[in-house]
Amino acid sequence: MDRNTADSVATILEQIRERIARACEQSGRSPDEVEVIGVTKTFGPEVIAEAWEAGIRRFGENRVQEAAFKIPQCVTGPDWHLIGHLQRNKIRPALGFFSTIHSIDSTRLVEQLDEAADESGVRADILLEVNVSGEASKFGIKPEDVPQVVERALACRALTLVGLMTLAPFCPDPEQTRPFFSRLRELRDRLTRDFGIGLPHLSMGMSNDFEAAVREGATWIRIGSLLFGHRPTMKQNLRQQMEADGVWEE
Ligand SMILES: *Cc1c(COP(=O)(O)O)cnc(C)c1O
Repeated sequence: MDRNTADSVATILEQIRERIARACEQSGRSPDEVEVIGVTKTFGPEVIAEAWEAGIRRFGENRVQEAAFKIPQCVTGPDWHLIGHLQRNKIRPALGFFSTIHSIDSTRLVEQLDEAADESGVRADILLEVNVSGEASKFGIKPEDVPQVVERALACRALTLVGLMTLAPFCPDPEQTRPFFSRLRELRDRLTRDFGIGLPHLSMGMSNDFEAAVREGATWIRIGSLLFGHRPTMKQNLRQQMEADGVWEE
């Protein structure tokens, strides 16, 4: 699913938007409801500049340490989202860089994040990450435990709960991912009804399966390799810079 690197980010983004439009048409949705989050983990500031130029406004990173190193070197303006697991000892720096955290996976994390944000006088939007597939390898809250985390999140002073996030298992045929995405949408609808709240965002769908996610109601799709190409070599680059700066952590 890597991009053809001869094409610019703008060209690929246009193709992705056409595919989103078709998926929306098939499901009676408006393409305005779907936004591409550019997942730039392991890529350097020049890639973010090109994506910003192409019109991407929100960017997803999965490691706080990397974001803290990279974001100060990037164009100003992007809205940065944390999409990877948040370790307790990274809560404070995360609040300094990210407006939105997609990967909230426990009541304890909600409490600690809210306390830290309140103390620092900042606010953040959060999504609860749900493990809809039940795979042991995945982070996320079990669907049946989500209501209790919602209840705690609604009591926060500095955090606003804006939706749910999930990763579907990898399926060779992306169509097979649809039941996982529909499960997240149904859970969202149930929570909206039971708690009498709005949960506008469903963060689901990646390079391989975003059309299935869009057909099931995704509002934020997280696209990395399809937009920016293969990651490992870039990771090597960034790692060397971070090591040189003494901020690399395994
Ligand atoms: C890396 C990553 C993505 C993007 O994956 P691609 O397959 O490269 O589009 C999306 N979501 C999360 C949580 C990720 O870590």
